Amino acid sequence: MSLIVQKYGGTSVGTVERIGAVADKISTFREQGHDIVVVVSAMSGETNRLIGLAHEIQEDPEPREMDVLVSTGEQVTIALLCMALKKRGWDARSYTGGQVKILTDSSHTKARIQEIDDNNMRSDLKAGRVVVVAGFQGVDENGSITTLGRGGSDTTGVALAAALKADECQIYTDVDGVYTTDPRVVDSARRLEKITFEEMLEMASLGSKVLQIRAVEFAGKYGVPLRVLHSFQDGPGTLITLDEDFDDMEQPVVSGIAFNRDEAKVTVQGVPDTPGVASRILAPIGEANIEVDVIVQNVSADNTTDLTFTVHRNDMAKAEAVLLKVAEEVGAGGVSTDDKIAKISIVGVGMRSHAGVASTMFNSLANDGINIQMITTSEIKISVIIDERYLELAVRGLHTAFDLDADPRAE
Ligand code: ADP
Ligand code: ASP
Ligand code: MG
Repeated sequence: MSLIVQKYGGTSVGTVERIGAVADKISTFREQGHDIVVVVSAMSGETNRLIGLAHEIQEDPEPREMDVLVSTGEQVTIALLCMALKKRGWDARSYTGGQVKILTDSSHTKARIQEIDDNNMRSDLKAGRVVVVAGFQGVDENGSITTLGRGGSDTTGVALAAALKADECQIYTDVDGVYTTDPRVVDSARRLEKITFEEMLEMASLGSKVLQIRAVEFAGKYGVPLRVLHSFQDGPGTLITLDEDFDDMEQPVVSGIAFNRDEAKVTVQGVPDTPGVASRILAPIGEANIEVDVIVQNVSADNTTDLTFTVHRNDMAKAEAVLLKVAEEVGAGGVSTDDKIAKISIVGVGMRSHAGVASTMFNSLANDGINIQMITTSEIKISVIIDERYLELAVRGLHTAFDLDADPRAE
């Protein structure tokens, strides 16, 4: 008998029938004698619907009110799931984040969990109840409802598992595990038996939204055994695990390919090539609270440079406005922007011990006639910025180039 925290995502609780199917699944675990704490998302589409309603009223609603609004989605599913469990003869009790209580900081819409009170959950488990907790939400020290950022129910699941020292945290979703790349984009994507926390963190940060970044961070930090599984198909899923669990023989050079279309490129042209100029350009961007990702500087023959960097697409207009002012101050030629770009990243701890990974990547892109606009690397990843139009072609080519394609005979 073990204590398992199970998180069910939006599509898994998207209809009343599916909520019933989730309750059946939980019943099976209870029959086997396991203690179960369940975390649920809002029904699929509900969070977006609520955000849409807010924007019909106000362009830029106050984050505190947004949290009061969007947290309601999860409140619906906890109650419905408890009803479905009771109908099947199990005692169950629902909790909002505030009722648990999951204490967070006050950064509305992107709050961080600070502390979890496990008293209620423990006494319910002792009394034989299934505990059902609303994902994605908490409460700050003033009693205001907070939310943890999109996809935040994953983080609730992992955080509860850490607080309860659960034997495993199971993330149930609409795919049967973590794949070498998004299986909705590349048909030949392959399910991974396991992946290291470090790689999963890179994949999540670089665009693979199968797990929220903070959930992976949390699981790594507190050593929570984490598994991604399909809600309604049996199978082993994917275990997110520590590096040491791999032997070198089975470790591929590249474990996965992540991508995103969330960034835009801004360029300041004809910048005088003098010390301190990059900082004069980037400082006001930082002051405007705009995060910069990839940066490249090209030097031209006439002692001027072009400074190009990427920001989140939502910040492009703001960045452009800041830069137009700065360009004038530093005597630069002009500012241009491009939001038709995509970032593709190859990720793998195996890169540490292998040479030639970058050249394989660049060869593959060249063979497909794809121009690389920017490059950035770290110890276990290489990212490139390309024209958004070639995203799928590039990912498919790289998937083959790094031997990640599923063996068609294995299916
Ligand atoms: P949930 O609502 O259950 O939280 P999400 O939509 O947040 O589900 O996450 C599951 C989705 O993540 C999948 O449907 C898949 O399209 C996407 N995804 C992106 N990259 C990957 C990957 N490498 N492996 C598996 N799924 C991925
Ligand atoms: N319902 C929230 C969202 O759509 C949280 C989650 O599903 O994890 O982002
Ligand atoms: Mg999700």
